[in-house]
Amino acid sequence: MNMEEFKSRKRRRAASDPNRHTCQRFAWPEPALPSNLVHDPEFWFEDGSVVLVALNVGFRVYRRILQEHSPFFKDMFRMPQPANALKVEGCPVVVLADTPHQLRHMLRVLFPTGGNLRFGKQEATLTMDAVAAVIRLAHKYQMDQLLAQALSALMEFYTDDFYEFVKQDRKVTMTAMPIDAITAISLARLTSTPSILPLAYLHASCAGSQVLHGCVRDGAWAEPLAYADLVRIIDGRPALTHAMDKMVCRIFKPETSDACSDSRRCLRIMTARTADLPEYLDMAYGTMFAPGVTLGSFTHVHGGIELTTGMRLCERCRAMLKERELEEKKELWNDIPNIFNLEEPEGWQVE
Ligand SMILES: [Zn+2]
Repeated sequence: MNMEEFKSRKRRRAASDPNRHTCQRFAWPEPALPSNLVHDPEFWFEDGSVVLVALNVGFRVYRRILQEHSPFFKDMFRMPQPANALKVEGCPVVVLADTPHQLRHMLRVLFPTGGNLRFGKQEATLTMDAVAAVIRLAHKYQMDQLLAQALSALMEFYTDDFYEFVKQDRKVTMTAMPIDAITAISLARLTSTPSILPLAYLHASCAGSQVLHGCVRDGAWAEPLAYADLVRIIDGRPALTHAMDKMVCRIFKPETSDACSDSRRCLRIMTARTADLPEYLDMAYGTMFAPGVTLGSFTHVHGGIELTTGMRLCERCRAMLKERELEEKKELWNDIPNIFNLEEPEGWQVE
């Protein structure tokens, strides 16, 4: 049989098979069970109908629920199993390339047990380990609904909404350290979600030399940063520092409102404040861009100084300073993609 005949025969065979695509993509894998297979203490349901295996850990769960949420598993389960397929305690086995940690995070969502039942929005209860594992596995196994939910927690934390970011009482459902932003960058690329990137780089630039080593997920494996991203962060940090210095200086410029009711007095108060600029800069670098903290407010510093000096600005100057602070923060916000040499996500700019 020459090559043309072979190709033609293959085409005919493929055309006669209504499940040809799924056959090729979702055939039951031939499991090679590890000899030291152990039951997962959290997910081994005695009446479970399938055993998922990650490394040497078996998870006995329910096929019905898996296929309900995942076209990947649905296609796999509807394929007839080969006669010699391996079974564990009577259940078919699916060997996965994921880690037990990752799988556990996903199964906690799909099969809530007594310890993790959730109802409604919980504040800052999700870790990056959990969010990252669910996003990666939901993406891989085509669980669109789960992917959207996990991604929304990430997008909420690394928001592209300036007004949300500067809220004093900002609520988020996940929590993360600066170094976790490395994972956020990777997830943004995996899921084509560029809106996450500016704040993720901003956070990563607060992680210092840790970015050289990557971040450790689930205490088990280190996720490195790509060389090009490392360059963006290392070059971006001094640019960010420069932009923040300028912002703080402009916010505290001793210049009263045009409508000031007592410009000599207000100017004296404002000038006195410039002596405290180092303190404001400490605040800017100490908390303002720290993860989980908003752009912060300098207005409470104004208030603190008024308390200690007993001198209060006129209402018009107070309002002007508040507005000035907001405008300066907007300018810095708008510049973040440029600072980290990123393509600006659509809708990033705030007027
Ligand atoms: Zn005034």
